Amino acid sequence: MICKSCGTEIADKALVCFRCGQATAEPTVKPAVLADGRRRARKVVWLVAAVWLAGGVVVWNTVFDAHITRGERIYVDRQQAFADGHGPRADMDQVMSAARSEGLRAAWGWTSVELAPGLVLAALWWSRTRRGRGGPPRASR
Ligand SMILES: [Zn+2]
Repeated sequence: MICKSCGTEIADKALVCFRCGQATAEPTVKPAVLADGRRRARKVVWLVAAVWLAGGVVVWNTVFDAHITRGERIYVDRQQAFADGHGPRADMDQVMSAARSEGLRAAWGWTSVELAPGLVLAALWWSRTRRGRGGPPRASR
């Protein structure tokens, strides 16, 4: 920290400034500030996690929707082909259930692609905070 009296950089745990002898009122204030910053950091982590999970839901829905839309287009195309006299009558249930199962597979695939890097980051963050807690004891009064 910085001495309030002379502006010299002094040890964070110093009770008096080694240069001018000014007592530091900091020790009673600092832990609160630190805890506050840690709480804010945790809030940011939760926010990022929420955005990440929401992103997973968006990816899932987008991919699944795209397959359903494609299934509908395939059905309409086949129906048209049948009307024109090429090919068999289109089976809505068969086309849509194929689109749905393919859509589910693709949706989960892309969602795991979106979620995987987040899981790695979360694991890293988790192990780092765990290690931090096992470190030197926090300053206490
Ligand atoms: Zn000083």
